[in-house]
Amino acid sequence: MIPILDSKRQYATIGEEVEREVVEVLRSGQYILGKHNKALQEELAEFVGVKHAVTLNSGTDALHLALRALDIGAGDEVISVAFTFVATCEAIGIVGAKPVFVDIDPDTFNIDVTKIEAAITPRTKAIIPVHLYGQPANMEVIMEIARKHNLYVIEDACQAIGATYKGKMVGSFGDIGCFSFYPTKNLGAMGDGGLLTTNSDAIKDRVIALRNHGGAVRYYHDEIGVNSRLDEVQAAVLRVKLPHIKDWNEKRRENAYRYNELFASCKDIVTPKELDDTYCVYHQYTVKIPNRDNIHKMLQDKGIGAMLYYPVPLHLQKVHEYLGVGKGSLPVTEKCTEMVISLPMFPELTLEEQQTVASTLIECVESSKVVA
Ligand SMILES: *Cc1c(COP(=O)(O)O)cnc(C)c1O
Repeated sequence: MIPILDSKRQYATIGEEVEREVVEVLRSGQYILGKHNKALQEELAEFVGVKHAVTLNSGTDALHLALRALDIGAGDEVISVAFTFVATCEAIGIVGAKPVFVDIDPDTFNIDVTKIEAAITPRTKAIIPVHLYGQPANMEVIMEIARKHNLYVIEDACQAIGATYKGKMVGSFGDIGCFSFYPTKNLGAMGDGGLLTTNSDAIKDRVIALRNHGGAVRYYHDEIGVNSRLDEVQAAVLRVKLPHIKDWNEKRRENAYRYNELFASCKDIVTPKELDDTYCVYHQYTVKIPNRDNIHKMLQDKGIGAMLYYPVPLHLQKVHEYLGVGKGSLPVTEKCTEMVISLPMFPELTLEEQQTVASTLIECVESSKVVA
């Protein structure tokens, strides 16, 4: 069995240090927003290259509170994609705004920047590009469009910590960057966690209040907030892991390029493309194949932990039925949804495992062609 992700292998390398730090937190009696959160915020702001980083309870909260901090709500429209995890557009719905889906680029799986302007209306307030699978979206064009139409940009960088576009970290282009520390992410906590990044003092202050019941001063509440504090145990874990992220991302890239080589002989397997001048961090290694559903089953039977991210695009989910964006509205998104399959990808994946994954997938693709 080759899993899509094996967190235990990473733990074996850092577990001792994690356990030492966690025990120290447990003994300290300081469990919420203490010294580790403070230090982590500073370390992550420096890492992303922004003025402020605010730790939160999840990536979903980062997206939700980003919209709140920009006063986006009922009557407003927010442009994003349907080819993403539900949380991206769930956040838009939570604040009562309307998600407007733009189709994706079939090569990078990210928002098709040539289709953004047609989706802008007088109600549009923001664009949320997603750096899907760790691939930076085309931030140069997105920022140009946003400036021209006076729109906010909130980057969903939940899958892309450490990725760069033209030498600059994702999460540092827009008004706000959102990150997730869900355990399976490239920088994962051992529970839920999230982060919001910004260069704006006002946004930082607002989010610090929003994450703690809408008040900057304890027991004085200026607006409806939430409880989205990160606990000290998670912050301590993340501080142990953060110094490794560059190395882990680099190993993911090496694994991705090794897969590309292994698949080069099979033209039915479309390997991921990168935009020029990007540093992709391969949260997922996702290829396009024909007869995907059959092959997915075959791989599972053969012990290859392949996954479908995501099996149903957001415009066709029941939760978004009310938008009336039916089948056929986003042809590239729908086509990619039918063809994508994500293969085992993590820094500790071995060459032998990759060879097994590759030869098994090629075999399945060839044999399903004969049947077809
Ligand atoms: C994981 C993820 C989120 C949500 O993050 P959580 O920490 O799980 O709430 C949002 N957007 C994308 C693209 C994600 O991958």
